[in-house]
Amino acid sequence: MNNQTQRQIKLISQGMPATDGDGVKLTRIIGTPQLDMLDPFLLLDVFESDQPQDYIGGFPKHPHRGFETVSYLLAGNMRHKDSAGNEGVITPGGVQWMTAGKGIEHSEMPEQVEGLLKGFQLWVNLPSHAKMVEPGYQEFPPEQVAVETWPSGTSIRVISGTTAQGTVGPVKNHYVSPTYMDVQLKAGDVFEQSLPNTDNAFIYVISGTAAIDQSGEEVATAELAILTAGDYVRIRAQVDSRFLLVSGKPINEPVARGGPFVMNTKAEVLQAFADYQSGQF
Ligand code: MN
Repeated sequence: MNNQTQRQIKLISQGMPATDGDGVKLTRIIGTPQLDMLDPFLLLDVFESDQPQDYIGGFPKHPHRGFETVSYLLAGNMRHKDSAGNEGVITPGGVQWMTAGKGIEHSEMPEQVEGLLKGFQLWVNLPSHAKMVEPGYQEFPPEQVAVETWPSGTSIRVISGTTAQGTVGPVKNHYVSPTYMDVQLKAGDVFEQSLPNTDNAFIYVISGTAAIDQSGEEVATAELAILTAGDYVRIRAQVDSRFLLVSGKPINEPVARGGPFVMNTKAEVLQAFADYQSGQF
């Protein structure tokens, strides 16, 4: 790729233990004192436990306004239900991309009483002009998420974005044009992905290691690497490895957070609390 710049590793974070919902134990990687946000991403939680007491409480009914929540599961089952009348069960490999917009109330509860629950929740900000849109909802069961399989056995599950070979993910988002891929790379294979130069991007390693080709800089299991700006990323797997690649266009607007509401100003956050309390969601 002549004149194209390759993305490298800018920062590695392991996140911090956190508890959310009704006692759900998780690791918060974006949305911490160390890594407040990676515009447009406001939060990334990883949950993984086979101990029911770590997840059984789930995330009972709570509101959101001003951004989108993305749930992606690797193991286990979660039932979600919202005030717009949507309900379903997310299963491994399935994704739910919810646009809270002007306001939604939802719950996300484990649909299991034992066994492993493992997955991710990502919060994606909305630009000011879209914070008060009608709530929206895109849900794809595992068989509707695009999967690209290479002869080597490498497979790429594409939630959003387009691979070099033209595999297109089902989620549409015109606000930040995200890429969200779950890459299972066989040892020795190289994954190359173009990304808009100034979009913010990160890799989260689920298993094995992801090494930048050819510098060899490595991201280990359970680490998140923020990438430098650039036109493409090239990752080599030294052993069979699995990682998420996520990128999005930065919104570059002020961010005012208030628990489940993310707006541009503190006044708008206070308005969200008032609207919720007066039953307008
Ligand atoms: Mn929620």
